[in-house]
Amino acid sequence: MSSTSTSITSSTSTKFQSDSTSIKPKEPINLSAFKHETIVYHKQDNSYWFYEKSKDSFPGQAFGLEILEILYHTKTKFQDILIFKSKNFGNVLILNGIIQCTEKDEFAYQELITHVPIMSHPNPKKVLVIGGGDCGVIRELIKHVEDKTVESITMVEIDDMVIKLSTQYLPEMAKYHNHPNVKLIIEDGFKFLKETQSKFDIIITDSSDPEGPAEEFFQINYFKLLNNALSKNGIVIMQSSENIWLNLKYLKNLIKKSNLIFKNVNYLQCYMPSYTSGQLGLIIATMDENLNLSTPLRIFSKEKESKIFKYYNHLIHQSSFILPTWAKDYLENNND
Ligand code: SAM
Repeated sequence: MSSTSTSITSSTSTKFQSDSTSIKPKEPINLSAFKHETIVYHKQDNSYWFYEKSKDSFPGQAFGLEILEILYHTKTKFQDILIFKSKNFGNVLILNGIIQCTEKDEFAYQELITHVPIMSHPNPKKVLVIGGGDCGVIRELIKHVEDKTVESITMVEIDDMVIKLSTQYLPEMAKYHNHPNVKLIIEDGFKFLKETQSKFDIIITDSSDPEGPAEEFFQINYFKLLNNALSKNGIVIMQSSENIWLNLKYLKNLIKKSNLIFKNVNYLQCYMPSYTSGQLGLIIATMDENLNLSTPLRIFSKEKESKIFKYYNHLIHQSSFILPTWAKDYLENNND
């Protein structure tokens, strides 16, 4: 942990530049001339739309957002990055054609993936974030640094361009990566976990979906590495890239893999209008069999909850684990 300034280690990519470096496209991007496989022009009302589609994950449906302006587009060594200003959801970050966050609803995901493990752990001091380039999870973790619970945050992001662009175009999210208690490492999270000797109380995998550089995160070897890097009774949480409406079978399989490594695994979900089908699933796990992950160990006063959270509160913590009957039965049934 750096105590005086942001500490950034870069092993696979160029050095992260300071926030004062403004990234702008070389020339303003003309929407009508801009070509991208996710963007469709609708002649009837002269509008341009982004569509999130997936042949494997959710065939036969798509989620669309009307585009007002293309803010940035680039292809890095790792992924295709597109940022646009939408009509109803503010600025939107897209990686490899998949929505990562929108200014309108990002807080729901960032708060749930952060505060559920933190409030479930008796004494969370050291936190590791794998991925998380938009820096929204760091913003949420800083609330617990200010509360004198969390002491150090290490974030391992593979693509420094995501951080740079988020600083520029998602300023409400990427605003605490310079905090003295935050250490940024630009590296593959999988490689970092293989090599690290450190132990963490909480590990949050805030990764993109399995297609692309995050592919290895959804495999059993990753769960083993997570477990090795956890302190005694530590908690891991990861976005599952799916939800009960899109791919229950995939989810069940992912939970099964987690159960092979961890003794206590649970599934929770988050309302997210900008993710296809309106929600995202998260998997949370620990080796502590006695820890009830769906009940917070620490609860803030109602006034404090309203002051520091927009989505999370102690009741949402509990209710996020409650599933509709068909999904609960399917996930609990051992036959399939
Ligand atoms: N909230 C988002 C979601 O669920 O779609 C995820 C947000 S965050 C932008 C995902 C980050 O994971 C990206 O910045 C991406 O570069 C990073 N990432 C993907 N693969 C990675 C890897 N192997 N190591 C570290 N970071 C990775």
